[in-house]
Amino acid sequence: MHVIGYGTTEASAELVPLSFERPDMRAGEVEIEITHCGVCHSDLHQARDDWGNTVWPCVPGHEVVGLVTRVGDGVTKFKEGDRVGVGCMVNSCQACGPCEQGDEQYCEGPKSATLTYNGPKKPDGSNTYGGYSTGIVVREEFVLHIPEAIDPAEAAPILCAGITTYNPMKHFGLKEGQTLGVAGIGGLGHMAVQLGKSFGAKVVALTTTEAKRSDILELGADEVVVMSDEEAVKNAAQSLDLMIDTIPYPHDLNDYIPLMKPNTTLCVVGNIIEFPSFDPAQMIFNRVAVSGSLIGGVAMTQEVLDRCAEHGIRPLIEKIDIDEVSSAFGRMQEEDVRFRHVIDMAGLKSRMNDVDAKKIDPPARGEVVGR
Ligand SMILES: [Zn+2]
Ligand SMILES: [Zn+2]
Repeated sequence: MHVIGYGTTEASAELVPLSFERPDMRAGEVEIEITHCGVCHSDLHQARDDWGNTVWPCVPGHEVVGLVTRVGDGVTKFKEGDRVGVGCMVNSCQACGPCEQGDEQYCEGPKSATLTYNGPKKPDGSNTYGGYSTGIVVREEFVLHIPEAIDPAEAAPILCAGITTYNPMKHFGLKEGQTLGVAGIGGLGHMAVQLGKSFGAKVVALTTTEAKRSDILELGADEVVVMSDEEAVKNAAQSLDLMIDTIPYPHDLNDYIPLMKPNTTLCVVGNIIEFPSFDPAQMIFNRVAVSGSLIGGVAMTQEVLDRCAEHGIRPLIEKIDIDEVSSAFGRMQEEDVRFRHVIDMAGLKSRMNDVDAKKIDPPARGEVVGR
């Protein structure tokens, strides 16, 4: 499958058009023409090698929505023309404990789960290329149905921002009448506010940006606490049953732990780099757990798509053409995004034959043992 994508060949470079061949579709796989792809903060981190694990070339994108163009032998859940999605993973061993429990993101297979881009682990050197591209081939088990009620562009952010915040709500058992704190109201946080309301929880949004207040209330948050407002922070002390911390960069947890009720969990999903040291006494004296959570399994991703359809939960998006993606990265870094950019692939599709694209090696299949 001939594909044009956008990606980088080194950390300091802008994203440029790249041309490559996807491996041919095999039995059990689905070939997808990509129509939309969300722009996640992780894409920026990965393209700039902020985590030190980027394999070049890097074609980001793990909020992929498209149409099925062909299915391989034995595919039962999809047919040509279906509107489908692909999230953060494209493969896993399908046989270990976590895989059997639907937690493919914690696969214990020899190479663990294969991510949609920057996939297989070093040192084998192989790579996967993501959804900033015109097409992708994925095994059936990692393809999702996009409910008809959801606009395809709006479906894209649910595949990472949605599942990443929904999973800890389920795992930590958020209940009706409880109070959920959401720290950081960007791509992930604005989904968490809406999803939290669908559980019947009271939602308190924690932000550093006073200017976002009216937007946040419109999303359905019951309260907004601006973290620089000492009085408001004091009033919110020990008020939360669960916090989902979506802030995507290092920040001071000392400001957030005192907001937790005793015996509750503050779950980090945004920042994976490091935290400045924080005061353990704040955890110990109230038995507050600081935890973390990584995306979510395939079945739960389908569940959150269906829940968004059912409850009218929609990401707030701004559609862009793929050649605007480098400036979108810049705006994301300056926090000038309300709340998610989604690439509309129609532009690239229409000029596919005229794009001056650098040819790169085909991506790996992202294979794991047993497949
Ligand atoms: Zn993401
Ligand atoms: Zn596994």
